[in-house]
Amino acid sequence: MTLLKVENLVKHFPTGGGFFGKGRLKVHAVNGVSFEVAKGETLGVVGESGCGKTTLGLLLLKSIQPDAGQIFFEGQDVTRMSQRDFRPLRARMQMVFQDPYASLNPRMRIGEIIEEPLAIHGRGSRKERQDRTIELLELVGLEARDFNKYPHEFSGGQRQRIGIARAIALNPDLIIADEPVSSLDVSIQGEILNLLRDLQKKFQLTYIFISHDLRVISQMSDRIAVMYLGKIVELFSAEDLAHVKHPYTQALLKAVPSVDPTQKKEKAPLGGDVPSPIQLPSGCSFHPRCPYREIVCERTEPLLEKKEGGHLASCHFIDKVPKEINI
Ligand code: SF4
Repeated sequence: MTLLKVENLVKHFPTGGGFFGKGRLKVHAVNGVSFEVAKGETLGVVGESGCGKTTLGLLLLKSIQPDAGQIFFEGQDVTRMSQRDFRPLRARMQMVFQDPYASLNPRMRIGEIIEEPLAIHGRGSRKERQDRTIELLELVGLEARDFNKYPHEFSGGQRQRIGIARAIALNPDLIIADEPVSSLDVSIQGEILNLLRDLQKKFQLTYIFISHDLRVISQMSDRIAVMYLGKIVELFSAEDLAHVKHPYTQALLKAVPSVDPTQKKEKAPLGGDVPSPIQLPSGCSFHPRCPYREIVCERTEPLLEKKEGGHLASCHFIDKVPKEINI
């Protein structure tokens, strides 16, 4: 069953330039993104910084309004729903943030932080909310006695556990996790990923897992959407990671360190920085960095189409890229 469906989502942010707002430049943050997520599935969204993945997360939660496109939650079009009407659905979609410390109010006790969404949504009596908070603390591997402590008394990994407890307090269906482990040590990352997996199994959670790190994304996801300059350039089953089609996805994959230290990887062909999202390149927006580009790539934008192995990919020259990548 499809839980979330997104069609041609667009979000541009105006930036400097022009008189009285005329001819102002725009940051093309999200440029026509479409996908579906099934209940209980994890969709990974990966891309370099500035590719639009965080803006996408904010759009899905209606924290910002899209310029075009539609968002359906359980088949219901929520795109232009008022915040008042959206409120009960918003309780079923929660976010886990990248920086657990910045996302926790330093003046509030941990118990109050976790209890807050329950109070805002009027769930239960004070006593019931406190009992639920203790249950949540234990679910994420903390203890009841942590209730009265402050955020600064916890390590980064523990703070992320608190953020997760808060996110699941209202029994959501969908969690959007935006770089949830990127600020943590590698040893702690594994513990938080395991916790997220356990909670998913226990509560049939659906995840949209956003990260710049393809290694982390591939560990967590059922399917992976690769974003580049506000668009999905490839969407595929995580099981088929070694057979990614798009030159950009291949470059991301080659940049992931091998698990086998004796195995040398081919140097990633990806050079230069991501172009400015204010002035997008013509044609295929990846062409300035692509080793396989031809003239047509500068002129004609490739469509996101079904390719071999069920991958959706947008590239004119899929046949030129290697069929398999050493991972
Ligand atoms: Fe490279 Fe051309 Fe494919 Fe774009 S369309 S990824 S420039 S080969």
